[in-house]
Amino acid sequence: MLDDKDRIFTNIYGMHDRTLAGAQARGHWDGTAGIIQKGRDWIVDQMKASGLRGRGGAGFPTGLKWSFMPKESDGRPSYLVVNADESEPGTCKDREIMRHDPHTLVEGCLIASFAMQANACYIYIRGEYIREKEALQTAIDEAYDAGLVGKNAAGSGWDFDIYLHHGAGAYICGEETALLESLEGKKGMPRMKPPFPAGAGLYGCPTTVNNVESIAVVPTILRRGPEWFSGFGRPNNAGTKLFAISGHVNNPCVVEEAMSISFEELIDRHCGGIRGGWKNLKAVIPGGSSVPCLPGKIMKDEAIMDFDWLREQRSGLGTAAVIVMDNDTDIIKAIWRLSKFYKHESCGQCTPCREGTGWMMRVMDRLVRGDAEPEEIDMLLDVTKQVEGHTICALGDAAAWPIQGLIRHFRDEIEDRIKAKRTGKSSAVAAE
Ligand code: SF4
Repeated sequence: MLDDKDRIFTNIYGMHDRTLAGAQARGHWDGTAGIIQKGRDWIVDQMKASGLRGRGGAGFPTGLKWSFMPKESDGRPSYLVVNADESEPGTCKDREIMRHDPHTLVEGCLIASFAMQANACYIYIRGEYIREKEALQTAIDEAYDAGLVGKNAAGSGWDFDIYLHHGAGAYICGEETALLESLEGKKGMPRMKPPFPAGAGLYGCPTTVNNVESIAVVPTILRRGPEWFSGFGRPNNAGTKLFAISGHVNNPCVVEEAMSISFEELIDRHCGGIRGGWKNLKAVIPGGSSVPCLPGKIMKDEAIMDFDWLREQRSGLGTAAVIVMDNDTDIIKAIWRLSKFYKHESCGQCTPCREGTGWMMRVMDRLVRGDAEPEEIDMLLDVTKQVEGHTICALGDAAAWPIQGLIRHFRDEIEDRIKAKRTGKSSAVAAE
């Protein structure tokens, strides 16, 4: 188990003072100018050595991503954009950073921006996060007042401005290019890639988009050293990580733990076990609603909570939003509900997603009631394959994967429901 002394987020539950004075008392904003004065290359190299992989879901190495930014400006400014549009069902970790430990993020923004030669940073926060926005804006104002950001930020010689932008509540604006469109005042619709944001991002300028947690951990990694951070987790899965556990556990929570912790330990130590005991565990969505679910037995006996293990199981760590479902769950209906969500959130600009999400949801709708032919299960699977990988952004995949996971692991349940409906043995569960 992670020791308290190794936690990056020491106020994640809001038990302590979240103001600048409180943050400084916990060690934040300590020696920031000294870190910056070590130079851009040093910071990027340290981040690469730490092994940090992006915490927003894709798990791309953060230091490597930063190194894609131009070393010399061609006259255009560079930007850091922080993706705080945390909207994936089940994911609620960044909000705890922003409302209880916001200075970790503000300090991280300064250091990361400097490493990318960006004099300005935009934080795009989701529309529904009203209190989080207030807490974060207060922290930004405090940092300005104390000279930690602004001209000659923290006495480092680097001029730096930070802006907080409130979204209007569309899930798709969490996709990095849709986020940039929205930030520019347009409709939040994903862009075709390439060009990638590092070449042409915000206002056509070099931009890096990073998740809140990825940026908020940066100052502590640089203060304590990359070896300290990479000492947690298996190789290629380094560091500590915020896990957001919801669903049928006794105590749902957000907790910082070492990567590669076993699922069993994570649940027993921090969540008081599964509701009704481990035998009652049915399925787990281990990384936010877009990743395929896995059967409870595999999760209990084998699961290592990191990028590589979960990918080997054809699922993913995603944002580490762990959704636990016990035997009371109608798993078909649970996945149908996700299908409905993705259909609703599709921006509609590419055909496989616009048509496919609706089509998949309507078939799921009938599967919930058992009102389908058995052959339709394979037909549905086939459609998910036609959507997956054939769209502009990852929402298409996000809509396809939960259904693939359902069919892969719970096909017999779907078939049983169809049979039961035909023989009149079921009290069919209506999709509402
Ligand atoms: Fe829009 Fe869906 Fe295409 Fe993404 S995959 S661009 S959400 S239609």
